[in-house]
Amino acid sequence: MGTCPFHDNSQTQFANGDIHNVDCPSCGAYRISDVALSDLRNLRTAPTGWRELVRRSIARHTLISTRDTRALTT
Ligand SMILES: [Zn+2]
Repeated sequence: MGTCPFHDNSQTQFANGDIHNVDCPSCGAYRISDVALSDLRNLRTAPTGWRELVRRSIARHTLISTRDTRALTT
């Protein structure tokens, strides 16, 4: 169990395999891979474009992957 990497007042549930369902009041309810989530935990604050990435993944019902998060952080 954990939280959104950027907001402590959120909840994460392991869905299946390495997928997390995160329910964050600030970011929204999104799905993210375990490795991508770990990558984000190394950051102190949300990278530029994070909110947009979450919005897009929710709208498209897609999983946030390391490809997405690394595009933001590199
Ligand atoms: Zn959040």
